[in-house]
This record gives sequence, C-alpha cells and structure tokens, in this order.
Amino acid sequence: MTMHSFLRRPPHADAAGPAAAPFRAMRWTASATLAALLLTACGSTPLPPWPSTPAAQRPNAPAPLPRAQQGKVVPAPLGQQQPQQPPRVAVVSSPLPPPAPLVVQNEGPMAPPYGAAVAARFPNPPISYSTPGLGLDRRAFTTNAELGLWLRSLADAAPRGATRTKLLNIGASQRGEPIQGLLLTRAAGTDPASLDTSGRPTVVLIGQQHGDEPAGSEALLVISSELAQGLLEPLLDRINVVVVPRANPDGAEVGTRVTANGTDMNRDHLLLNTPEARALAQVINDYRPILVVDAHEYTVVGRYLQKFNAIQRYDALLQYTTTANYPEFLTKASQEWYHQPMAAALKAQGLASDWYYTTSTNPQDKRISMGGTQPDTGRNVNGLKNTVSLLIETRGVGIGRMHIQRRVHSQVTAITSALRTTAERATNLEQVRSFVARDVSAQACRDQVVVEAAATPTQRDLDFLDPDTGADRAIRVDWNSSLTLRPTKSRARPCGYWLAAGSTAAVERLRLLGLQVMRVAEPGAMLAETYRETARETGDRQDVIGTIAGGTDIVRVQVSTVRSAVDAPAGSFYIPLNQPRANLAVAALEPDTQNSYFANRMIDDLGQLARVMAIPALVFEETE
Ligand SMILES: [Zn+2]
Repeated sequence: MTMHSFLRRPPHADAAGPAAAPFRAMRWTASATLAALLLTACGSTPLPPWPSTPAAQRPNAPAPLPRAQQGKVVPAPLGQQQPQQPPRVAVVSSPLPPPAPLVVQNEGPMAPPYGAAVAARFPNPPISYSTPGLGLDRRAFTTNAELGLWLRSLADAAPRGATRTKLLNIGASQRGEPIQGLLLTRAAGTDPASLDTSGRPTVVLIGQQHGDEPAGSEALLVISSELAQGLLEPLLDRINVVVVPRANPDGAEVGTRVTANGTDMNRDHLLLNTPEARALAQVINDYRPILVVDAHEYTVVGRYLQKFNAIQRYDALLQYTTTANYPEFLTKASQEWYHQPMAAALKAQGLASDWYYTTSTNPQDKRISMGGTQPDTGRNVNGLKNTVSLLIETRGVGIGRMHIQRRVHSQVTAITSALRTTAERATNLEQVRSFVARDVSAQACRDQVVVEAAATPTQRDLDFLDPDTGADRAIRVDWNSSLTLRPTKSRARPCGYWLAAGSTAAVERLRLLGLQVMRVAEPGAMLAETYRETARETGDRQDVIGTIAGGTDIVRVQVSTVRSAVDAPAGSFYIPLNQPRANLAVAALEPDTQNSYFANRMIDDLGQLARVMAIPALVFEETE
C-alpha cells in the first residue's frame, strides 16, 4: 500500500461516528499533504495502518492499566507488589464532609452566585481529595510555598521500586516566585537524554496558567502524589511524566487570570514575552513530550447569565489543537485516542462534558465560539510542536470554592484518562510522531501553506441550567466550530525564511520555540519573495473573547509578495522549513497575521524578512 492510498482513504476511515467529521473537515490539509508526499515519497516514512485496538487489549498484551472506577483510582492486577504504604494523599470514601465555606482566593466570603436549586445539580463526588488548599478550614487554595513543599516531599521520599523523581525548578515568575515541577520516571536517569532513551513517551501536565482557575493546580498535586506513591504509579512502566501544577504563581497569589504585568500568558506561547511562558517553552524543548495537557477552568455565571439568562452546566469542556497546519494524523490521534475515551471516562463518573467554548465580553454578541484557531495558546502552539495537546476546562471561574471537590474530580478523571491513553498507545504515538516530523520537514519548498484559518459558523444546541429552578434548558446558539477550519489566506510554502542580521530578538524566540536557526557565514544570493506593504492599521490583538490582556498595540499589514534575488550578508539568519517544527516558523514570520513577530514589533521592518523560494547555496556557521 502506498502513501497515496493511505491518504485518499485512510485505513481508519471506516471508523463511524463523530471521528469522521473532523477528518472530512481537515481534507484541505490532506490534499496538501498528499501532494507533498507524492513528490517526496522516497523520503517519507510510511505511517502504519491506523490501529483500532489498544495494545493492552490485544492477545499477549501486558495487563491492563489502572482505571478510574466509581470515584476511585483502582489499580488493575499487575502481578506486582502493591504499594506497601498507603498513598500520601488520602483518597477516602464517603461520608463526605459538609461543603467548605464559599470564599474567593485570599479574600473574604463571597455571595453565592446561584441558589440551592442550581447548587444541588453538582453534588460532591464519591471521593474526597486532600491537598493543602482543599482542607476544610481553608479559605485560600494551596499557596505556592505549600505547592513547593508538596513537590519537594514527593521528590525527597525514599525511592519506590524503579521510580525516580526530581524536583524541577523551571523558572521564576515576574515577582520572583519559583515555578516548579516534578519529574516522575523509571528511566535510568532523570536527565532529558535518559528519558529519550527510555523508550517511554513523556507527558507534560500544566496547571493554572490563569491564576483564578485553581482546580487544575490542586488536581495536579493529587496526580503527582498518585504517580509517585499511589495508585497511578504503575503507569510509569510505560510513560514519563512532568507535572507543572502552577504556571502562573503571581496570578494564583492574587486570584487573577493574568500575570503580574497584566499579560494573558495563554496567548503568549508564540511571542514568549513573559518569563512564565518562556519557562514552559523550555520544558517542552527539554522533555519533548508526546502529550501536553493544559488544565483550566471556565466562567460559570457572568456573561452567560447576562446573555442567555442561564448558568453553565458542563463539568468539563474539552478541546484539542485546532490551528492551521496541524498534522491531520495528530488530529485523528487527539480525537480517537484521547478525546473520545476522556469524554467516556467523565460520563462514567456522572460528569457532563462537551467541546470547550466561550463567548465574547460584548453583551450584544450571543455567538458561542470554540477555543480559538490562532497559533498563540498553549493548546495550539504545543500542537505545532507535533504533540497531542489537550485543553481541559472545569466549571470553576467566579464561584470561589463551590463544588471544588467535584471540579478536582473532573480534572483528575480527565487527566487520568489521558495518561492511560498515552501508556496504552505509546508505540502508536511514537509512530505517528515520527511520521509527522518527517512529513512536515518534507513539505518544505512544496505546495501551499496556510497563513490564516478561521472557525466555521454553524448552529447547535447547548445545555444550560435555569438560574431559578436548576432545570436543564437547551438553547440553540450560533456556534463557531474550530473543528472545521477554513483557510482564509494561503501562500506557496517556502524553503525557509531569511532574517536580517540584528534580528536577534526574533531569533532568540524562534530558538526557544525549538526551531533551528542558522547564521550565514559567507554572503550569497537567494531566490526569494520579499513583502510589499499594501495597507496598514494598528490595533489590539484579539481572541474569541475580546482584546487580549497585556498586549501592546500591533501593526496589522496587508502585503503582496515580490519575486527577487536577495543578497544574504554574513551575520544574517536562515530558518529552514525542512524541520519538524517548521509550521511554527510560518506562524511567527508571515508578517500579515496578528500573532506575527512583525505585527508585534519584534521585527521592525518588512525589509528585514524574506521568503526563500529555492534551497539557498549559502555557507552557514554553527551557532549555539
Ligand atoms: Zn484559563
């Protein structure tokens, strides 16, 4: 079977149901990929047939993995010793304590945002999680100092079997608070090279990029403990895990979405202006995860009450990478291997889920949009690093400590599902990653690249709650689907980009994105396309909610391209597109998008940038 037939009719195309829709929606990338593959078939790695049965269910497969069951994480028989001590985190059964007093982080009690009828729709789970911030007498969630102590105690604990743990100091916040993580592995060592050679894929779990969304952070403390010395420990036979429970400690300290300087760090993963986003980028470069999970919470009342006279119902809202040029096989892996089992795992716990969505802050605008299509969020930027990148949002913003056990339970259930998938699909995921890395590289100089894509407007019914009775209420909404991307601007895919000497700020960011940037040692000429500005305006960066917090005004240009020979002087830079993360270079360097380094003034002048249209005969020098 040739790659041609794989792509014309993928072996998994017989999978019925919702999986088929995203694949149809992504056909425009399939045709681009097909053309590239036909031209470069010899250089590509054939992707094996899409597996339908997880390794763990095949004959002679290893024993099943731990599974979440009736509110407890229950280990399946593994033929190995059970932990000799109880997990440090007490996972206790009912009876449940009375609900904790309703408070906002570090503030006094707040008025309940809805009455008892609505609250009764969200009973506590049949399990009670214990972290510093979940204590019954607590008014504040886990402080950053407590979080550090928790991770350190897990890192310092006596080794259990082959498990190694390491406290990671991955950076400092703008106010100097440590951003810490925990690595858990059964590799021979805890350095990235040992993880690479362990034969086990690595997962990175990130919490609380938005400081007013605490459930992800508390849940990741639970997950850390259960992996280190609890019921999730057996998963470490198959995966390595890096947990970063709190990416934005300054925001968490004061209960704000943004970082100390007012930036929405989850729109900063391409620009990398904040030390917080830079710390996460370095973690991704160091540990090369195959899966990144980004734990958030979403607004429950606020503008939904205002626009629809309704209250949000879903325990969890889920979305994977939805941005232009994301490899279609990663979309399929996200959908079939991760999203579907995660939704089923939540349902089995009595937790309702749907696609992630939000709505703008404009009260007249009743459109509902799925998470955005721009390459700026962690979800989308990490996807373009050829990972499966999942957003998990629980029902929590604006309700203080209400339902916190249920929110943490939703996060733990969803994240456990993703960990299990990675363990079960480790081999398949490595095959997909190897394929897409080579396939993205092989597309350089060929066919088209999408510069901008948009969601597709449609309509659908969403379930909300009546604010007085708590009853379900279906509302038909205008719905922008990010599952169906419409390319709105495409260009010929260059062989690479040229940047003038002195573009050091841009070069530094590109390298932090994991891109190879070469420095020209001896001058030479290149066949290139330069940009000619045809229109200009200034404005703010926008997302589907409204103006992005913390941005400076940007330059929005329209351009045409002009073929010409360009002289590349010594000391200028070349970013080849025959590299696995090439699509991040496209996102950063095509100047006429709101996220580009030109729009955000890291590149001052269009003359400092060119699209290189034939492989240049230049001599490069080694750089760091
Ligand atoms: Zn968030």
